Amino acid sequence: MIGIRDLEFAYTDSDFRLRIAELSVAPATTTAFIGPSGSGKTTLLNLIAGILLPDSGTVETNGTVVTDLSERQRRAFRVKGVGLVFQEFELLEYLTVLDNILLPYRINSALRLEPAVRDRAAALAERVGIADKLNRLPRRLSQGERQRIAVCRAVLTDPPLLLTDEPTGNLDPVNREKVLDILFDYVHESGTTLVSVTHDHEILERFAEVVDFRSFHAFGPSE
Ligand code: ADP
Ligand code: MG
Repeated sequence: MIGIRDLEFAYTDSDFRLRIAELSVAPATTTAFIGPSGSGKTTLLNLIAGILLPDSGTVETNGTVVTDLSERQRRAFRVKGVGLVFQEFELLEYLTVLDNILLPYRINSALRLEPAVRDRAAALAERVGIADKLNRLPRRLSQGERQRIAVCRAVLTDPPLLLTDEPTGNLDPVNREKVLDILFDYVHESGTTLVSVTHDHEILERFAEVVDFRSFHAFGPSE
C-alpha cells in the first residue's frame, strides 16, 4: 500500500532533514506514526499523499509511484486515492457542515456531486452523530464535532488510504474515544488502510503497527 525507499527530504528554508531508507505499510492495516514534535511526521504524511516531493528516493502509494508523477497527476491521484484529516481540520468557516463534508466534490472537477454523494454524506453524518447539525456553521460546534466533520469529508470518496494527523489532539477523553471508534469501525468495515500521526500513547494499542520516528535519522531545531 505504501512503500518508501531511500527517501531524503529537506525544506528549502529549514535545517530539518528526513531520511528513511525503507518503510512499508501493508494494505488494510492500521499504523500509528509516533515521535517527538518536529521529527517529520506531518512531513511524511504530505510525502505519502504526494503534496510534497522528496529530494531523492521513491514513494509508492496505492500501487502508484507518486514520485514519478507531475503535480497535476499527483493531485488527480490524491483526489480519488487518499483521504486526509489535517491537524487543524481545515474546515471552511463560511460553509455549512454539509458543504464542508461535500467540499472535495465542490473543488475537484474530477468528482461529480451526484445525489448519491449527498446521500452518502448524510449517512456518514448520521453515523458520527452530527446529522442534526448539517445546516450549521462549524464555528458554532465543539472540537469533537469539528473533528467528526473532517473525518466525514475525508472518507466521503471512499479512499483506499486514510491519512490522519493527530486526530485526537484537541479532544477530551470522551470525544477522543468517540472519534477513534468512528475511525476504526470505518476502516475495519471498508478495508481502508489507516495511517495516523498521534502524540497520544494511550491509543497506541488500537493500532496494528507503530512506526517510531526516532528510528529515522531525522533531526531538526528541536534537538
Ligand atoms: P511533526 O509533525 O513530527 O511535529 P513536521 O513534519 O511538522 O514535524 O516538521 C518537521 C520539521 O520541519 C520541523 O523542524 C518543522 O519546523 C519543519 N517544517 C515543517 N513544515 C515546514 C515548512 N513548510 N517549511 C519549513 N520548515 C518546515
Ligand atoms: Mg505534525
